[in-house]
Amino acid sequence: MSDSAYRDVALDALRRAARACGSVQRSLITADTLEKKDRSPVTVADFASQAIVCGALAEACPGEPVVAEEDAAELRAGEQAALLEKVRAHAAEAADAELDEQRVLAWIDHGGGDPGPAFWTLDPIDGTKGFLRGGQYAIALGRIEGGLVTRGALACPNLSLAGHAGVILWAERGGGTWAYPLADDAAPSRLSAGDLADPAAARFCESVESGHSDQGGSAAAAQRLGITQEPVRMDSQAKYAAVAAGDAQIYLRLPTDAGYREKIWDHAAGKLCVEEAGGRVTDVDGRELDFSRGATLQSNRGVVATNGPLHDRVLAALG
Ligand code: AMP
Ligand code: MG
Repeated sequence: MSDSAYRDVALDALRRAARACGSVQRSLITADTLEKKDRSPVTVADFASQAIVCGALAEACPGEPVVAEEDAAELRAGEQAALLEKVRAHAAEAADAELDEQRVLAWIDHGGGDPGPAFWTLDPIDGTKGFLRGGQYAIALGRIEGGLVTRGALACPNLSLAGHAGVILWAERGGGTWAYPLADDAAPSRLSAGDLADPAAARFCESVESGHSDQGGSAAAAQRLGITQEPVRMDSQAKYAAVAAGDAQIYLRLPTDAGYREKIWDHAAGKLCVEEAGGRVTDVDGRELDFSRGATLQSNRGVVATNGPLHDRVLAALG
């Protein structure tokens, strides 16, 4: 497939997946589900989003494996008929297609591929907590070839960026990072992470969840760098989008658990979006993220993404 054909398939699939996520948010998240901490809306949206994106890839490039976060085993269990019907209905509406349950299950299962020499990786909803609380979440699709991320698409339905209320970033190795409005076909704009070199003037972002990133460690690093602004906390790979657009200059993800290994689908698309906008992404030890080790970044610890000029000083400040 040509570069532009890959882009068109990815953008259309992510727009449709975002539409399904939005309709789940509007119809299934209620004061009652929030009060009960009921996660079933995100389960429906997760499966519907995966079905839509994996279905689009299965049709456009059937021989290319997809390594996605979810699998359909839970949905196949007999007592999950009501859940499966909700997934089917939301996926069919967003895909503009007649879908039966078997097809939905087969599309979700298409995401159970192996991470070989070339594959896609998908997080159908990154930032599930953000999705439930009406904050940031992302649909993240990356292509990996020979351990390198070569294409990345990142839909952030609740992120205002580059003048769009809801955005999709598209990056291609060597081709820059582009912001498309989520809602229409208006022309994209090219993103730049900017050239701010004074750490004291920088804004940094990190996870909302203190279990996903050491917020005490980042506050100490910020102090060493002379950063005065409060961190911007948001869920999902929207953090990478903020750095790619120059809205923040630093994204810190400092390990909270020495045994945890980052998942490839949590980073592939975001990393390429930052790099193609002129930024840098490494782990906390300054190592390149290594996507050749299966579904996790086994050789890496945490993540540091910056606009580029600040990178070495940020690494040095991690202590
Ligand atoms: P965020 O929205 O940045 O907080 O990241 C959400 C992602 O964090 C989820 O998709 C999980 O895969 C991932 N995650 C789960 N546990 C951990 C952990 N202990 N450290 C770092 N990331 C985690
Ligand atoms: Mg995720």
